[in-house]
Amino acid sequence: MKLLPFLRPPTFRHGVHPDEQKAATAGLPIERMPFVEEYVMPLAQHIGAPARAIVEPGQRVERGEMIAEPGGFVSTAHHAPATGTVRAIDLRPHPSGRLQPAIVIGADPFSSQRLSADAQPLPKGLPGPELVRRIQDAGLVGLGGAAFPSHVKLQVPEGKKARFVMLNGCECEPYLTCDHRIMLERPRAVIGGLRLIMEQVGAERGYVGVENNKADAIEALRQAVGREGLPIEVFALQVKYPQGAEKMMIDAILRQEVPSGGLPLDLELLVNNVGTAAAMVDLVETGQPLIERVLTVSGDGVRRPANLLVPLGTSIEAVLDYCGGMLPETRQVLLGGPMMGMAQKNLDAPIVKGTGGILASLRPAPFIEEEPCIRCARCLEACPLYLNPARIALLAREERVPELSTYHAMDCFECAACSFVCPSHIPLVQLIRMGKAMVRQAAEAEAS
Ligand code: SF4
Ligand code: SF4
Repeated sequence: MKLLPFLRPPTFRHGVHPDEQKAATAGLPIERMPFVEEYVMPLAQHIGAPARAIVEPGQRVERGEMIAEPGGFVSTAHHAPATGTVRAIDLRPHPSGRLQPAIVIGADPFSSQRLSADAQPLPKGLPGPELVRRIQDAGLVGLGGAAFPSHVKLQVPEGKKARFVMLNGCECEPYLTCDHRIMLERPRAVIGGLRLIMEQVGAERGYVGVENNKADAIEALRQAVGREGLPIEVFALQVKYPQGAEKMMIDAILRQEVPSGGLPLDLELLVNNVGTAAAMVDLVETGQPLIERVLTVSGDGVRRPANLLVPLGTSIEAVLDYCGGMLPETRQVLLGGPMMGMAQKNLDAPIVKGTGGILASLRPAPFIEEEPCIRCARCLEACPLYLNPARIALLAREERVPELSTYHAMDCFECAACSFVCPSHIPLVQLIRMGKAMVRQAAEAEAS
């Protein structure tokens, strides 16, 4: 794929510019959070079928030992984030807001918390299908938020090719800086992971997209590439939301459009997150499965903002406590960033594989009465997919299901850029989400 030179940092068309709010944590190195007393590992932590528990209450488990096996092809295993004893397998609060089946582990306070002896570096030159199986068994998923099982992406279907692999280091959500720190502190692991993916799928070229508010990370990655003379380019992209959506990053770097309803693979391209690439290197070099992740704790409601390496299953409350706790005036806690994050009502919910941040805010989104649409078209100008959010929201409100598909409602990836700019405070993204659910229900009803 021949790329034309860019006269200024590339980006996609449309999008919005929310206040970045990254200064509080961008300069803070990743610190390891100490072990806590209890871990709650939900069986559903990724897109696809939930994992199946393979341990029983009362059983002793080692840190890194498999505790749940994949529940199907689009599913991954889970592992004990700490050495201890299985206390229960029952319904526990989940970041989705529902109660979900989970394995509860009481950590052994006297354990050294070394990784289980079963976790060994992977043998060199593993055949492709065996590496894919090991990645599934290690519980690796996309760490950018979507939590799509990594092994599925690495198995390119018959008749398709992945000539290019792209790593996503945009981190366009305000406040979040965990990917920034991973790229800056572990550039060789990020590039090593990209190289591993390229070898696995037989790609000829790699790209990394990073917004140009992370100049130090871009420099670190370029040095890591340069040292080894790899066919990889690191792109400094304009700062714009949602630059980190894979379709937008592809548009910015390659000036190509993923077809409606299609995948990057339709352009012979695979996209992964930078943190996922580093986690793959951890697996290959040390045998460590996905038992911990880096996340950002920030917002004006938290006393000590931080970038932390946190064992999965740690409660939101324990993480906030480690950061000095919340100010008493804190009104809202989100998992993720302010644009796409999920408000949490129960701080017992655990950190899961897709959690990139905890945001404690003194000022929740104010409730402003919705006004009628004034046909200003700002939502159309914001939508990176050139959808008509005002129209789709109206169709959803009026439950005009067949027309929702005509207006490509299912293409919307719920970035909330349209809601962000609407002067009438119409809950566009919520209405569109509702509309998408109606389309799915109608399709299911038709199929049954
Ligand atoms: S939420 Fe959907 S409709 Fe709104 S801007 Fe994002 S992609 Fe477009
Ligand atoms: S931004 Fe809001 S007011 Fe303007 S056209 Fe869209 S829905 Fe209507």
